[in-house]
Amino acid sequence: KQDLDKGLEKTKSSLFGQITKAVAGKSTVDEEVLDELESILIASDVGLDTTVKIIDRIEERVRRDKYLNTSELNEILRDEIVQLLAENNTVDIEDYTLPSDSKPSIILVVGVNGVGKTTTIGKLAHQYQAKGKKVVLGAGDTFRAAAVDQLEIWSKRVGCDFFSKGMNTDPAAVAYETVQHAIQNNCDVAIIDTAGRLHTKVNLMKELSKIRRSVAKSLDGAPHEVLLVLDATTGQNAFEQAKHFTDATEVSALALTKLDGTAKGGVAIGISDQFKVPIKYIGVGEGIEQLQVFNKRAFVESLFE
Ligand code: GDP
Repeated sequence: KQDLDKGLEKTKSSLFGQITKAVAGKSTVDEEVLDELESILIASDVGLDTTVKIIDRIEERVRRDKYLNTSELNEILRDEIVQLLAENNTVDIEDYTLPSDSKPSIILVVGVNGVGKTTTIGKLAHQYQAKGKKVVLGAGDTFRAAAVDQLEIWSKRVGCDFFSKGMNTDPAAVAYETVQHAIQNNCDVAIIDTAGRLHTKVNLMKELSKIRRSVAKSLDGAPHEVLLVLDATTGQNAFEQAKHFTDATEVSALALTKLDGTAKGGVAIGISDQFKVPIKYIGVGEGIEQLQVFNKRAFVESLFE
C-alpha cells in the first residue's frame, strides 16, 4: 500500500492539482469544467477514446441530475474509473497465483527492450519462489548478450533455475528446452524471456508464433500466459506497443512498469480499456519487492485519496 501510494504520487498530484485548479471558484460542473477535465485526462495519457468515454459518462450524470456539485467531481470520476477498469479487468488478482493448475505453468514474456522486461521477470520469480514455487527462467532473448547475462544474474539473486543456450541461438529451441527443463526438474513454473527488438509486424508475428508452437509441442496446453510488459513512462508509445503486440499474438495479461517515474499513470486506465487485456502487475520501483498485483480499487483509491 505504501509502495503503491508512493508509486502513484506523481500521477496523483498532477491529476489532483489540475482538477482542483479546474474547479476553483466554481460550484457546479459545467461545460467549461468538463472541457478542462478532458484536457487533464488526455494529458495524463488516459488516451483519447477512453477520455471521451469517461467525459460522456459524467456528462450523462450531469444531464440526469441537472446539477452536479464540483466538490463531488473527484468521487464521481473515481467511480467511473473503477467501473471502467471493472469492465476490462474482470478478475482482481489477489495474489501471485500461477496462471494454470497444470504443472509446470509456462509464461511467455514479451515487450520491447528497455521497458523493464528482465526486471519484471526477476521480481515475479522472486514472488513465486517466496511462495515455495520452484521457478526456472528461460533466456529466450538470444539477440542481446546483456539480456542473457542479466537474466542469469536475476536467477542467482532469486535463487531459481536458469536455462540458456547462449547468444544467437534459436529462441524457439530455448523455449522448447526450458519447458523440458521445467518438466524434468519438477519446476512449478517456467518464465521465458523473448526478444524485444522492434520488429516489423510480420516478423514479430512469425517469431512469436514459432516460439508459441515450440512451447506447445514441448508441453500440451502451453503457454498458459503471455505477459506483455509496457513502460508507463512512455505514454502514447505504450499504446502503440500494446497494439503491435496484441495484433501479433494473443496477449493474456499486462505488466505496467515504472509507474513511480511518471505523472502519466492514466495510461493504465486507457490501455486496459482499449485492448481489453487485464492489467495483472504494476511496477512501482526498481526494488525486488516493488512489483504488485494490480487491484483496480486499490489503484484508484491511491490516485484519489
Ligand atoms: P528490459 O530491457 O526490458 O529487460 O529492461 P530492464 O529490466 O533491464 O529494465 C530497464 C531499467 O528499468 C532498469 O534500470 C530497471 O531497474 C528499471 N525498472 C524496471 N522496472 C521498474 C519500475 O517499476 N520502476 C522503476 N523506477 N524502474 C524500473
